[in-house]
Amino acid sequence: MPERRDRLDRAIAALDGIDALLVTNLVNVRYLTGYTGTNGIVVLSRERAVFVTDFRYADGVEHLRTLLDVVILERDIAGMTVEALGEYAPGCTRVGFEGALPYALADRLRGLAPAGVELVLADDVIERLRRVKSATEIAATRHAADILEVVYTDIANGTLVGRTEADVAWQIERTIREAGFPALSFESIVAAGANGARPHCEPGPTVIARGDLVTVDIGARGESGYCSDCTRTFAAGGAPAPEAAADYQLVLDAQLAGLGSVRPGALGGACDATAREVIAAGGCGELFGHGLGHGTGLDIHEAPTLRKGSEDVLAPGMIVTVEPGIYRPGQWGIRIEDQVVVTESGHEILTGFTKDLVETAG
Ligand code: ZN
Ligand code: ZN
Repeated sequence: MPERRDRLDRAIAALDGIDALLVTNLVNVRYLTGYTGTNGIVVLSRERAVFVTDFRYADGVEHLRTLLDVVILERDIAGMTVEALGEYAPGCTRVGFEGALPYALADRLRGLAPAGVELVLADDVIERLRRVKSATEIAATRHAADILEVVYTDIANGTLVGRTEADVAWQIERTIREAGFPALSFESIVAAGANGARPHCEPGPTVIARGDLVTVDIGARGESGYCSDCTRTFAAGGAPAPEAAADYQLVLDAQLAGLGSVRPGALGGACDATAREVIAAGGCGELFGHGLGHGTGLDIHEAPTLRKGSEDVLAPGMIVTVEPGIYRPGQWGIRIEDQVVVTESGHEILTGFTKDLVETAG
C-alpha cells in the first residue's frame, strides 16, 4: 500500500494544466490501485482521490478504502462519474480524460459534465509515471523473465525437427503456466524457416525441418501483471546454412552494440541507430524493418520506445527490450531479444539465456 500511496501522490503532482484527471485506462487503474476487474475509474485531484466501480466488485475493493475513497455505482460508471464530478473532484473546472477513451464516449461524457466543468484531453499522464519502475516492479519482471530461461533450456536440450511450430508453442505455454504464471505476456511466436521472415508470424502447422532457423519470441505475465519478453533463434537439428550463420552473427553483433548504448541519458533513437548501423554496415540494412525495442511493464509494449527518431530519454529503473533482427523473405528470420533494466551506470540484463547460436540435437 505505501507504494500505491506514493503512486497516487506522484500522479496528483503530475497534473499539469488540469485540475483533475479521469483515469479510465484499466492498466492505469491497476497501476494506481491494484484493481484487476473490468469496470473501474479513478478520479484524481488535489482535493480527493476516488475509485469508482460497480456493485459486482463491491466486496473485492473494500481494502482500497485505506488508500482512497471508494464509490460503488450500479450501472454506467463513466457517465455517472462525470455527472458527479462536482462531488468527486470538488472545485475542479478543467478535468482531463485519457486518450484511450473512445471518441464517441468522450463526446457523450462532455455532454454529461456539470455546468462549468470542461473535459479536456490529457494523454499519457499515468503512462509517463509508469516508465520508471520501482524495486518491486523490477523484482516482478525479473521473476517473469527467469522462467524463460527454463523454457529455452528445455528447447535447447529437446527436439525441434519433425515437430510443428504449434506443438512447440504449446510446450512453452505449458511450462510457463505450470510454473504458476497466470498468463503469457503475448501469444508465443515460434517461426521456422521462411516463416521466421515474418516477424509476427503465428505458430501453425508448419513442420520444423533439419537446418531450419527457428525464432522463439516468448513472455510470461506474473501474478502482479508484469511482463517478460525475450527472443532466441535456434538452429534445428544441426548447423544452418553458412549464409544464415553469418546473418546470425550480424544480428548478435548489432544486439550487443545496441545493448552497449543502453544507459541513463541515452535517447531511444540513438540506441536504435547504434544497432541499425551494425546491420547496415553488414549490407542488411533493408532487412531490419522494425524498431530496436520497447518498454515493458503491465503492458508488453509501453514507453519508452527505442526506434528511429525516438526522443525518449532513458533513466534508471526503466525496463526496455533490445531486439534487432534480419528477415530474408522466403528464406529465414533471425531475432535476438533481451529485456534489460536501466541502472545508474548502464543496464542489467534480465534474460540470461545464452546468445550463442544453439544447434539442437534433433
Ligand atoms: Zn519479444
Ligand atoms: Zn519485444
